[in-house]
Amino acid sequence: MSRSPRNLKADIAKDKSNVETNAPLEAESTHTNRVVDLKKIADGVRLILEGIGEDPTRSGLIRTPERVAEMYVELTAGMREDPQAHVQPLPGDTHDEMVIVKDITLASVCEHHLAPFVGRCHIAYIPKNGRIVGLSKLARLTETFARRLQVQERLTTEIADTLYQGLKPLGVMVVIEAEHTCMTIRGVKKPGAQTITSAIRGCFKEARTRAEAMALLFGGRGIER
Ligand SMILES: [Zn+2]
Repeated sequence: MSRSPRNLKADIAKDKSNVETNAPLEAESTHTNRVVDLKKIADGVRLILEGIGEDPTRSGLIRTPERVAEMYVELTAGMREDPQAHVQPLPGDTHDEMVIVKDITLASVCEHHLAPFVGRCHIAYIPKNGRIVGLSKLARLTETFARRLQVQERLTTEIADTLYQGLKPLGVMVVIEAEHTCMTIRGVKKPGAQTITSAIRGCFKEARTRAEAMALLFGGRGIER
């Protein structure tokens, strides 16, 4: 679950405003409060432009490095958020039956190509002792993990594990369907190819419970529509 610390340390070390320059990173932490370096990203984008033979000073590109820098900060905003904040039980409200939120749209960034992948996340859980989270929190949880450099498999398990450990329900099932631009517009170029991943925790390991969730999630359409 924890992110590789290799680039974090370099970034933190160069940020003079960070007083904890040499503080060890917490192994359990899945987010940080480190600041981003827009200039460093923009400088890198300028190098890419030069590398492909473009002229970064021509009028159409003059602001591009800064725009791309801002875009990457937005696409990685989840790195600087605490996912645990989205799995706090709602005070007062209780419910004991299966809860499903389907078709949560997500946009993430493939960590192998820095190319977007977009799709939908479906989350099912069965509360324990009535503990539930606000429905919008499941979307926020998805967003927090999606807005990072990711692989779809890890994105799926991180959402499932955080909900399972934070809310302590009887079970959690997370299914993600996504289209990876690194696969559809480059490489094997298979437009429309969907990658489907799932993570199952607790009582969803029982076939009957899982089947009920799958029927509610996908009904007649089948998982691949
Ligand atoms: Zn990729």
